[in-house]
Amino acid sequence: MMLDDLPPLREVLAEHGLMAKKSFGQHFLLDLNITRKIARLAQVGDGDTVIEVGPGPGGLTRALLETGARVIVVEKDERFRPLLDELAALAPNLTLVLGDALAVDEKALAGGPAHLVSNLPYNVGTPLLIKWLTGPWTPASLTLMFQKEVADRIVARPDSSAYGRLAVIAQATCQAQLVMDVPARAFTPPPKVDSAVVRLTPRADRPAPPRLDALQKLTAAAFGQRRKMLRASLKALGGEELILAAGLDPQVRAEVVDVDGFLRLADAWLARR
Ligand code: SAM
Repeated sequence: MMLDDLPPLREVLAEHGLMAKKSFGQHFLLDLNITRKIARLAQVGDGDTVIEVGPGPGGLTRALLETGARVIVVEKDERFRPLLDELAALAPNLTLVLGDALAVDEKALAGGPAHLVSNLPYNVGTPLLIKWLTGPWTPASLTLMFQKEVADRIVARPDSSAYGRLAVIAQATCQAQLVMDVPARAFTPPPKVDSAVVRLTPRADRPAPPRLDALQKLTAAAFGQRRKMLRASLKALGGEELILAAGLDPQVRAEVVDVDGFLRLADAWLARR
């Protein structure tokens, strides 16, 4: 395959008359050194299947193809079809799907285990992550670019301002690590804020659906009113009795309860039903 002979991404965009569209959350990585580094962090290669959401001009796609992995890209913006078709003509291991990543069935798409690697559109980054963490299909790994503030919320530890629902759900289901900071100026056009890549590896002991549903319900209630004591915010779900059953202090606030504490709350809530 002649990926090395491809023209620079800037030229490809100009040739196709493509400009970034804000409504699609488009901020492109045109520096292949950066996209190659992300592909390395994803630890994928020959024999792996990767799903990439939002290939856009295809910088990260090129880097993923270079690893030898089979790459399935899901792009919502139809304008990118000709450009991505050209890339697919050179790369037999690339499959293009035009559609909304929020609506695709990843299991059917991949036909087996698959890794997710993406520079996510900011406007749907969090809903996509929640889908992958809590939905019926579990990825083999996730290497994802988010706004720095969202990345911080995913890896946050208890008793910090970034700690909340997202941290509990992400860390109950996965090992989560911030692996790369990417400044706003690395993107074309640059967004207003910096970004970071988070790598998530699903845990063998991740909670199954009833426990996971309970965890979602409890974290929504607990962090919906994060300034209140837990016994007040969880009043409708069992209040003080539930909190004591989980071995926690009813006087505490949600932000100091660790992931294990929330899992114990979920178990206590399930046991009472
Ligand atoms: N991967 C490219 C890169 O790194 O240069 C583009 C990243 S850009 C931040 C996000 C991409 O996601 C855009 O190509 C955008 O059109 C696409 N996109 C936005 N919403 C989407 C959705 N719901 N489903 C699939 N793709 C989407």
